[in-house]
Amino acid sequence: MPLPHYKRWYKTARWQALRRRVLAEQPLCVMCEAIDRIDVAVICDHIEPHRGDEAKFWTGPFQGLCKPCHDSAKQRMEKSGRPTLTFGTDGWPIETRPRGGGRKLSLFGSQTDTGP
Ligand SMILES: [Zn+2]
Repeated sequence: MPLPHYKRWYKTARWQALRRRVLAEQPLCVMCEAIDRIDVAVICDHIEPHRGDEAKFWTGPFQGLCKPCHDSAKQRMEKSGRPTLTFGTDGWPIETRPRGGGRKLSLFGSQTDTGP
């Protein structure tokens, strides 16, 4: 089976530069942060699946993820057919769908200073 056409976009200097910029702005995994964990983001992830859409691929929006979060998020999405976790513009997840006794997210438990 041939690779999807967008796979080669990941190999371009343009993508490498974009990825570096996203990870420089967002050095910590946002999914880990949501559950009070600290991990270094290594993957520049498309928040909305681009599905080969060139405009979406290059303009994002993006988020920094560590590899375990990236892989588990993608696997969940492949199983359920849609994202289980969506991040708003403020960086907080706006939709959670825990499935069958899975890890429960405590989003605001220790976060007291949420004001501007
Ligand atoms: Zn993570």
